[in-house]
Amino acid sequence: MNQALFIISLQHELSMLIGSQLDLSLVCKRFLKVCNHRMSLNSCHVILKNQNKLFLPNWHATRKDLIYSMPKRFEGAPWTESKLAMAQLDNILENHNRCEQAVISKQSQLGVLTSFRLKDLGYLILHTQVQVRDELVHSLLPITEKLANFCYSCCIQQQLVAEMQAREQAEHKIKHQATHDSLTNLYNREHISVLIQQIAKHAETNGTQSALIFTDLNNFKPINDTMGHAMGDQILIQVAYRLHRLKNNKIHIARFGGDEFIIVVSDLAQSVAEARSKTFNFIEQVQQLFSLPIRVQAKSYQISMSIGFCLFPYAAKTPADAITFADIAMYEAKRSKISAGIEYSPSMSEILATKAANVEIVKQALANNGFALFYQAQYHANKQLIGAEALIRWNHSSNENSQASEIIGIAEENNLILQIGDWVLDAACGHIAQLERRGLPTYFDAISINISPKQLITDNFFEKIQLLLKKHKIQNHHLKLEITENILIENFDQIVPVIKALKSLGVQTSIDDFGTGYSSLTYLKSLPVDELKIDRNFVVGIHNNPESQAIAQMIIALGNTLNMQVLAEGIEDEAELICLKALGCHLFQGYYFAKPAPFEHLAGSVLQPI
Ligand code: C2E
Ligand code: MG
Ligand code: MG
Repeated sequence: MNQALFIISLQHELSMLIGSQLDLSLVCKRFLKVCNHRMSLNSCHVILKNQNKLFLPNWHATRKDLIYSMPKRFEGAPWTESKLAMAQLDNILENHNRCEQAVISKQSQLGVLTSFRLKDLGYLILHTQVQVRDELVHSLLPITEKLANFCYSCCIQQQLVAEMQAREQAEHKIKHQATHDSLTNLYNREHISVLIQQIAKHAETNGTQSALIFTDLNNFKPINDTMGHAMGDQILIQVAYRLHRLKNNKIHIARFGGDEFIIVVSDLAQSVAEARSKTFNFIEQVQQLFSLPIRVQAKSYQISMSIGFCLFPYAAKTPADAITFADIAMYEAKRSKISAGIEYSPSMSEILATKAANVEIVKQALANNGFALFYQAQYHANKQLIGAEALIRWNHSSNENSQASEIIGIAEENNLILQIGDWVLDAACGHIAQLERRGLPTYFDAISINISPKQLITDNFFEKIQLLLKKHKIQNHHLKLEITENILIENFDQIVPVIKALKSLGVQTSIDDFGTGYSSLTYLKSLPVDELKIDRNFVVGIHNNPESQAIAQMIIALGNTLNMQVLAEGIEDEAELICLKALGCHLFQGYYFAKPAPFEHLAGSVLQPI
């Protein structure tokens, strides 16, 4: 073929190739293949410079120039890895003057490299052993121009595609985030509400019942507090992972917040009874998921859940009601420690409303001097008044007896007990100070104050007592703190150091309601407690009850052995008193001697034996 014809056909072939596709890599490779083949080159390359303003996804990732080579290898190694080839290319590109469109450079080792500028995008390099003729270089210039335009369009197009994909991904992510919980990837509370709405609507037409199951992990807070939130998060992720196993097109799972999860089981049955029974079966499956401990960072955590549920539309007409009701039932399950789950009933809401109202009453009483301390005198068998127990009462209330359990019960369910406990301690220490000023007889032992477990395990309890003793300037041994036996055993390790510290101050301690718990001798031996109070349950009708007698006898013997005084509480008649005296008990408290009464009444009685 003569030269002119060769050039025309080469131009034609190359220009047909350019733009035949919108795939940059494919077109460049085909272009180079034709160049290589038609011009008998050693190699040829399209180099697109990375510093170009255009963005290409793979450019961005590698931060290297894009190099298309034909053939791909040089002396056995890929072009991009051959040091010699790359050095030559770098050299020629460096020397390629910005104004020149084509440059021919002779290289000793590689032969001749002819570089064409692809505008400011990069270069087309032809590599031969012999110099490419000027004519050919000229004839390739318009083609190079076209190639440059094509590369530019491709870059723009790819950039647009990448932007679109990124936008789609971002939209997808936003959509996902709007409906999912970021920690566990379960549905979030907003989305589960939408689903419940949809399920409820569906139920209107098909008449089926669905269940909203509300779960809350038991004892998660202490783990979170002691092991750190990162560990807590890991546990929540694992819990979510296990719950996720239950998921199918009728079971939706969400994290409601904190350690609370919601499971909605739709279309259970048309009959409420059947839906209920299926829900209980399902809850069993949920609990089984946690039969094996969760392992996080080589530690095992035995997780359990409190579960409440409500059937809808049977019990709840709106998603918000369904959630609230199942939550109420969950609290009931937690309170009563029932693992099988509890179904919501309207009476639970009534109880809750009463509780909320009661909490308000207690708060008001705290703020407005609404409490009073009554004292129930304690006597020695020789009829001397040796002490008194402080018992909380509503101020200005006509019903003077048995109100303490009501107040304490309300306050124990939340942290109000701490404020009440502080008030009781302060008021009682104030009363001790008054008694001391009036002159207490030497046989008067102490004023006893009931201490709630929450108070005892607060960090600064001991310091609080020290401050109170100082504030009221009372003799430490006139203060006796009562701790119920059950609470003592449940929190033994935490409470023992507090009791020991109190002992070192001379403050006395007493184990209240003794005999109802399971204190063993081993427990008691290590406790420097001053007193055991025989619970009223064993005192009621003790003279007619050999079992109570045996227990009381055992407690008295225990006290004697461990050098603790023993007081029997709740004595209502003489027969009980005679029986207890015969068993060796010398200290008593009960309606038989005195009912709880205002402080002034105690103050008046302290100096006169009955
Ligand atoms: P507790 O410490 O065992 O107090 C004895 C309870 O038995 C008192 O009831 C008292 O009034 C009652 N009682 C005394 N003698 C007799 C009797 O002969 N017959 C009968 N049936 N009952 C008798 P109260 O005052 O209702 O207190 C109930 C519980 O409430 C107390 O049991 C104590 O655990 C708690 N409590 C009372 N005041 C406080 C307080 O200030 N702080 C704390 N944390 N708990 C308190
Ligand atoms: Mg008591
Ligand atoms: Mg008691």
